[in-house]
Amino acid sequence: MSVIQLLPEHIANQIAAGEVIQRPASVVKELMENSIDSGATQVQLIIKDAGKTLIQVVDDGTGMSPEDAVKCFQRHATSKLKTADDLFKLQTKGFRGEALASIASIAHVAMRTKQVQVDTGTFIEVEGNTIRTNEQIVCAKGTSFEVKNLFYNVPARRNFLKSETIEFGHIRDEFERVALAHPEIKFTLHHNGQEIYNLQAGVLRMRVASIFGRNSNERLVPIEEQTNIVSIKGFIGKPDAARKTRGEQFFFVNNRYFKDSYFHHAISKAFDGMISEKHYPSYCIYLDVDPAKIDVNIHPTKTEIKFEEDRFIYSILLSSVRQALGKHNIFPTLDFETETSFDVPSSFRKTDPVAPQITVDPTFNPFQSARSSSTSSGNGFSKALKNEGFGQTMPSTEDWENFYQIEEQTSNRGDLSEDLGLHEERESGSYLLHDRYVFSPTKSGLLVIDVKRAKWRILYDELISRFIHQALDSQQLLFPIEKQVSSSEGDLWKTHDKLLHQLGFQSSLEDGILYIHGVPSVLPEHAIDACLDSLLSELQNRDIDQGDVAHHLVKRLTQNASKDAVVRRPEEAQALIESLFQCKEHAVAPNGKKIMHTLSLTEIQSNF
Ligand code: ADP
Ligand code: MG
Repeated sequence: MSVIQLLPEHIANQIAAGEVIQRPASVVKELMENSIDSGATQVQLIIKDAGKTLIQVVDDGTGMSPEDAVKCFQRHATSKLKTADDLFKLQTKGFRGEALASIASIAHVAMRTKQVQVDTGTFIEVEGNTIRTNEQIVCAKGTSFEVKNLFYNVPARRNFLKSETIEFGHIRDEFERVALAHPEIKFTLHHNGQEIYNLQAGVLRMRVASIFGRNSNERLVPIEEQTNIVSIKGFIGKPDAARKTRGEQFFFVNNRYFKDSYFHHAISKAFDGMISEKHYPSYCIYLDVDPAKIDVNIHPTKTEIKFEEDRFIYSILLSSVRQALGKHNIFPTLDFETETSFDVPSSFRKTDPVAPQITVDPTFNPFQSARSSSTSSGNGFSKALKNEGFGQTMPSTEDWENFYQIEEQTSNRGDLSEDLGLHEERESGSYLLHDRYVFSPTKSGLLVIDVKRAKWRILYDELISRFIHQALDSQQLLFPIEKQVSSSEGDLWKTHDKLLHQLGFQSSLEDGILYIHGVPSVLPEHAIDACLDSLLSELQNRDIDQGDVAHHLVKRLTQNASKDAVVRRPEEAQALIESLFQCKEHAVAPNGKKIMHTLSLTEIQSNF
């Protein structure tokens, strides 16, 4: 005799309800999401007693036929998923066909629904999964759900509910998440007859500002980034608007709210040093990724989402938030009054001098960690240098001050340069070339530029900004390079496969041998092997934060690519200096070591 019995439908529904419907806010979420899936342009949420007495959602969406009005309460009844394949390209919020069946098993539900093309609608009342009423009625297009006496037959749940304030807080959270995901839809929220929200359809910024509260608009900094893997848009709150409580922190993927402590870490990291540890940054960030590359199915209430390319997304998030903070002038602006008296090499001056970008373009280099400005003393310039640290020690500002010698300090330069016979040199604008250095006479002495470091900085800046948007150019190798790697090196290489591919490496791994089929086109062939070594050791470096891996790899790649840089002709020197000055950080190489130094006339003189 068989002892196994199939659970009666309503019990199965109640069990499912336990997973999906934890509290009134869960009902709010499910009903509002259904309304959005139905193409509504307006959604009203009406709540009584924090949802214990009534949760009503009214929409102007497609409505349902009389037949579907009955069917929708059955378990696994969904119009959103037809084949298993559909699971991987979901564009709708729901797909399990579980919500209405669950809600109907633990509450009294009344529903009115009408499709636009017909005159009459359907009125349904359900209790414990049994249909009590099914009538044709006159009603507006769309659907209205009323959920009453939630958990009437599950006392444990009902008693478990928290205070009204807390339960309504959860409802409000759900409402805000849905509203933030759909600025194009009008939403209202009423609680016990009082209007809490009345959100007109409009642009994203307006919606975010109305949820973030009064005067929040001017505190919002937009972020936007498009890559082949993810598109990011949204807003972050300026650091001075950071709050002492968590709250205004929202992530959405394909318009679905989700929680993610890993991505949250990326944002916090971007704010590092700009807000105190007791404060939380606010953000509202929207990711768009190929639905096939995420798994929304891992959690019944679907707020946790698995991303196939989470490391990559982490890096991009970190970078774009840093970039946004920089662009919007959050970093101290430079007051550089002496701009006109820059002491630049004379030959360089003949071309239109490019003022150091840092003075005219406050765009913050996204790949540098911000540091506290507490050490600031003196002028804005040295302040900025300290703030824009790369995590390594910065050269002393003296070098800069020497280079951009102000008029006053060089007031007697005329005599000196005459003494030293520099005058003619400056007029003819020559460079002295050496394997490693370029020398150029300036008003205040002799400027020395380290060619390799200059080249490294130029390449790094160029590639890192390109790298965020697209894979770097790759060059196919005629004969693949084979490299023996340890199993842990092999694993690391595999883990970072996507990143390495984005860098321009094409590779395969077989039996402990790494086959390199293509390399970044900036990398000269003879430098490939050394570059692979340094990338592998970088991957093994445990001190590097996950989110910074990309930047470190680009750093190593460009370092190897610039190792043999030499300048053979004055035109090359000229071009090098010009490109160098286009870089925001033209004083230091990506490892923080200085690129240029001015031997002052006094220094030179003291040797005689
Ligand atoms: P799911 O959303 O996972 O499909 P639900 O139980 O939430 O499952 O809803 C079941 C079905 O009922 C939906 O697939 C949809 O066809 C229909 N439905 C639910 N709510 C609405 C609504 N507000 N407007 C139109 N159709 C709806
Ligand atoms: Mg649903």
